[in-house]
Amino acid sequence: MYSALRTVIRRRGFATNATVNGFDGAIGNTPLIYLKGLSERIGSRIYGKAEFQNPGGSVKDRAALGLVSNAEKQGLLKPGGTVVEGTAGNTGIGLAHVCRAKGYKCVIYMPNSQSQEKIDLLKMLGADVRPVPAVAYENPKNYNHQAKEYAESIPNAVWTNQFDNTANAQAHYETTGPEIWQQTGGKLDAFICATGTGGTLAGVGRYLKEKSNGKTQIWIADPPGSVLTSYVNSGGKLNERSGGSITEGIGQGRITDNLGTFVKQVDGAFTVPDEKSIAMLYDLLDTEGLYLGASSTLNVVAAYELAQKLGKGSSVITVLCDGAYRYQSRLFSKTWLESKGLLSAIPDHLKKYAVL
Ligand code: PMP
Repeated sequence: MYSALRTVIRRRGFATNATVNGFDGAIGNTPLIYLKGLSERIGSRIYGKAEFQNPGGSVKDRAALGLVSNAEKQGLLKPGGTVVEGTAGNTGIGLAHVCRAKGYKCVIYMPNSQSQEKIDLLKMLGADVRPVPAVAYENPKNYNHQAKEYAESIPNAVWTNQFDNTANAQAHYETTGPEIWQQTGGKLDAFICATGTGGTLAGVGRYLKEKSNGKTQIWIADPPGSVLTSYVNSGGKLNERSGGSITEGIGQGRITDNLGTFVKQVDGAFTVPDEKSIAMLYDLLDTEGLYLGASSTLNVVAAYELAQKLGKGSSVITVLCDGAYRYQSRLFSKTWLESKGLLSAIPDHLKKYAVL
């Protein structure tokens, strides 16, 4: 049993006796999971980068560490200081962990539309959580503007500004991108994911484009209500946001600085309806034993559809951003799903998993 486990760990590419330094040291080096069932259905290879295995439970641990380290390097954050951020939750959770580990205070502004699980976890991690009405970015009461204003009003505080501070994308350029390149041996046709800040897409995308001399395709997957698909497909026309999605943490109404000019290098974009993301969430639980949040399963739908566009034998990578634990009171509640018109999207034989 013990030696079998060692073999498995060795295959993952980790030294069996490796130790890492604290919370920060445990961020990254996540496995790349081959999604066998889906891949075999279409004769392609689909992989998900298991970002839910980060110590704070999401892809945003990398950004959180990058933002805090950058503020320290620039002398903006001194011992005993305060980190202030506006976040849908996962960046806040990553920051709350990093702040506890480094002895900073952490203040989080978030839209009150987010799941209770994320709010509770932030409080348990000692963050000062301030839920505010979920209003558009253009409104001065938007959670980001409130975070900026508050940071400016108190001494020794930094607004980490995940949307427009490119230390976020840089963290993915320096870690997630190289890990994917190494794990695939550079043999990948495309990378696709949804964006919130755009840090993951632009950081990984820029690295893979450079390493492959532009050969690896980079695609955006959008939830409904996000404007990036129409932006990419119209050659740069920014429409008003309309509609929305149950997928938390993704969707965008503007070109953030993290997405920046990289958006011009994107090879394509398309929208994935919530019905497909929810059906995939239950499918991956049933067939692969994976318990994922809805942005992850939107990404997998997108990778599956892109692999079909690229043809048999193609190899497509996406991101498994976090686990379902953070949203289970919604995603596994028949009443909640029904209230969003999504219960019927789940095939009858999989409805048994909706136990709440
Ligand atoms: N999925 C989830 C669950 C998230 O919280 C986020 C970040 N808000 C993303 C995906 C998107 O990541 P990024 O900000 O790097 O675009």
